[in-house]
Amino acid sequence: ATMPPLLSAIANAGRHGVLVKSAVVMERLGQVDAVALDKTGTLTEGTPRVTDIRPLAASSLDEDGLLTLAAAAEHPSEHPLARAILDAARTRGLYIPVVTDFSSAPGTGVTATVDGCTVAAGSPARLLSEGDGHPAAVVAAQLENDGRTAVVVIRDRTPVGVLGIADRLRDEAATTVTALSTLTGATPILVTGDNPRSAVRLAAEVGITDVRAGLLPQDKVTTVRELQQTGRKVLVVGDGVNDAPALAAAHAGIAMGRAGSDLALETADAVIVRDELATIPTVVALSRRARRLVI
Ligand code: ADP
Ligand code: MG
Repeated sequence: ATMPPLLSAIANAGRHGVLVKSAVVMERLGQVDAVALDKTGTLTEGTPRVTDIRPLAASSLDEDGLLTLAAAAEHPSEHPLARAILDAARTRGLYIPVVTDFSSAPGTGVTATVDGCTVAAGSPARLLSEGDGHPAAVVAAQLENDGRTAVVVIRDRTPVGVLGIADRLRDEAATTVTALSTLTGATPILVTGDNPRSAVRLAAEVGITDVRAGLLPQDKVTTVRELQQTGRKVLVVGDGVNDAPALAAAHAGIAMGRAGSDLALETADAVIVRDELATIPTVVALSRRARRLVI
């Protein structure tokens, strides 16, 4: 017996390293006419590195002191930015004190008690009050204009320094965006929790002009729903816990398999097992061919 077209398309997708969870999903992948791509860990490799360590003069901290505080507060976090900060601290051989009262807020950052002080590390846009011209905000804006993600470190409510973190664009990001534009007739949009400055800069490198930055997980859902209200069938591609709600809301959701969070992998309709972005347009095309055979 010959296999039904959608099932052989699933097998074929599997050979390309894409795990498609059902025939319904295989069919939906070919119907999409809009694409929303996450930035960190999706368009970028997701292995960010600390590039700048900027203690503020008033803090009386040196680079190691600032990095130690940040690493301590981030220690319990699994966020890629936390891993970058811990790697940098370990590379410098710093001793990282144990923290208590750790908590994290998606799209914002972390807080913990370090040596009796409350230390927060995270997004300058969310943690610094708008337009107060604090030196930390000035340094953060400089770093963001250079395409970095800035992490501000705050001790007992006083900003003490800023870290600059950079992630590499995946080699196949630009060609994937072009292929998806051609297939769907619409250039993908970028949805990210990161700051608009570095998001717009990175988007330009891959040919994306529609950038939605500074989004919380629920804002990513709102973006998907808005597109759906204009009659679009949206494909969402993401990797993080913060992408899970949008993956669930999408017509089809694809998760990055290699470093993707468990929640993203479970919520998505399909998983790119080896993180090869170029297989996304491949499965859309496979779906379309199978649907032509079905109909
Ligand atoms: P993305 O949508 O780009 O994958 P996230 O929603 O995970 O990004 O994070 C958005 C922003 O929230 C980050 O750019 C950072 O400013 C802040 N943030 C989130 N988690 C952390 C953390 N553990 N430490 C520092 N900043 C964080
Ligand atoms: Mg991400």
